[in-house]
Amino acid sequence: MTKRILIAGAGPVGLTAALEFNRRGHAVRIIDKGTGPSDESRALAINPRTLDILAPSGATERLLAAGRKLRAANLSFSPGHRVRFDLTALPHRFNFMLGLPQSRTERILIDLLAERGLAVEWKTPLETIERIDAPVAATIAGEGLSDGWDLLVGADGAHSTVRRNLGIGFPGHQLEREWGLADVRVGMPYPFDELLVMSREGRLLAMIPVEDDIVRFISDQRDVLGLIPDEFVQKDILWQSAFAINERRAEPLSKGDVFLIGDAAHIHSPAGGRGMNLGIEDAGWLAWLFDQGETGRYQALRLPVIDGVLDLTSRITAFASPRSPLVRIARNTLVPLLARFPPARNFMLKRVAGLESPDPPWL
Ligand SMILES: Cc1cc2nc3c(=O)[nH]c(=O)nc-3n(C[C@H](O)[C@H](O)[C@H](O)COP(=O)(O)OP(=O)(O)OC[C@H]3O[C@@H](n4cnc5c(N)ncnc54)[C@H](O)[C@@H]3O)c2cc1C
Repeated sequence: MTKRILIAGAGPVGLTAALEFNRRGHAVRIIDKGTGPSDESRALAINPRTLDILAPSGATERLLAAGRKLRAANLSFSPGHRVRFDLTALPHRFNFMLGLPQSRTERILIDLLAERGLAVEWKTPLETIERIDAPVAATIAGEGLSDGWDLLVGADGAHSTVRRNLGIGFPGHQLEREWGLADVRVGMPYPFDELLVMSREGRLLAMIPVEDDIVRFISDQRDVLGLIPDEFVQKDILWQSAFAINERRAEPLSKGDVFLIGDAAHIHSPAGGRGMNLGIEDAGWLAWLFDQGETGRYQALRLPVIDGVLDLTSRITAFASPRSPLVRIARNTLVPLLARFPPARNFMLKRVAGLESPDPPWL
């Protein structure tokens, strides 16, 4: 039976929710307070689990056509020593990470929705929630009361209005260190199509290919440009930003018939590239559970996965960007040793791919 679903937030997670509820035959309204889709490249790596989840809606096919396959991640914490994690060793049909700027991912999802007659309503902020049990009622700026919803999905990001309206906290902490990132058009002496994480002048530098001549550089210091190796000739800075890492998650993840997904529910370090992917997984599960009449299981199913990702990304961040020289020495010697040990390799590969969580039963 067709139900009425209101989604607040048209980032990648809200857009995925819209596609998933729509393809199950529900009447979806998706609103966003912004003026249009973001141009920022933000999340660059789409993992195999996300490609699985987006396949039934037809999004994966388009993402694959637009993105580039990143088949390995290399770690180099001491000169001359490089450890290669070969993603093609994953026993999965998508045995790679797909590199695509978040802005392009969002546009592909928006186009798909438009083809189904569903347009994002921009400049339409959700303001308050007046009733949390179905029929859910909320107020929308410039419109007033919007009533009669079977479900309200809060996909409105880290500063979620939905979460605040529900009186749900966002406990956690912010890491002291400020990180820097830059998308730079560079001249390269060789084809660069794998992820590389290295130690540079005692700091961490991650390099992710975005396009043939564009690389994302991320560092655990604000001045990322100063760390870029000389062989990458800097031509044009396309986007530069500094950010603080927050590790937070909401609990409970819902009240009545109002649910939190994506950054509204959890934020964490970008280490491992899980942020957007984890939220897309929330969206897939919520839509499936809703159809099963089992939304009451949402929190029990998602919290352990979310906590696992928060814990892992926090440990990777602490280990990769150590404050103490002892941890730095441990990192430089342990990483190459552990990487040679197949269970440790597989452990990491599975987690980067997002495949440690339960397999979605609807796929
Ligand atoms: C600098 C930077 C780099 C990042 N790099 C990575 C990365 O490499 N890998 C990775 O996986 N993740 C990365 N992330 C995180 C990733 O971008 C987020 O996890 C992802 O955007 C979460 O998607 P979302 O849809 O939950 O939230 P958002 O993308 O934040 O979207 C929320 C939407 O809700 C809208 N909204 C807010 N309030 C309201 C309201 N009251 N009513 C209606 N709409 C509202 C907003 O306008 C916005 O469009 C990065 C983030 C930043 C900032």
